[in-house]
Amino acid sequence: MTVLNISVRSKFATSTTRAFTLVEIMVVIAVIAIVVAIATPTWLRQREISRGRACQENLFKIDGAKEQYALEYRASNGTTVDMTQLLTPPNATAGAGEGYLKAIPTCFANGTYTVNAIGAVPVCSIGATAFLEPHVMQE
Ligand SMILES: [Zn+2]
Repeated sequence: MTVLNISVRSKFATSTTRAFTLVEIMVVIAVIAIVVAIATPTWLRQREISRGRACQENLFKIDGAKEQYALEYRASNGTTVDMTQLLTPPNATAGAGEGYLKAIPTCFANGTYTVNAIGAVPVCSIGATAFLEPHVMQE
């Protein structure tokens, strides 16, 4: 018959050299907190910058769609055009993908786009245009 030899000594109760002390753990947590506190504003700012660039790219697409619309329909400067006309032009079949935009672009920073007339640049409600700096939201 085999007798199991099970040690019931706790490693933490008897050993004082192998465990972390409370001060060591608190120092590690403090260092991690400092690193997070330094890095978080940078992460947030970079996120807003990339959202602004994506918004600017959408404005470029809208402006290009307006230019193509104006060329094909011989629309002069000042002719009003809206997003649905760019999505489905007057002679195109609805839903057939014949428009100048595949979908209505959305601003990642929750701005709304104003297409404006032919010859004027489209703008985002947060403040960007396709030809100026992209918008960066306030932190
Ligand atoms: Zn925007």
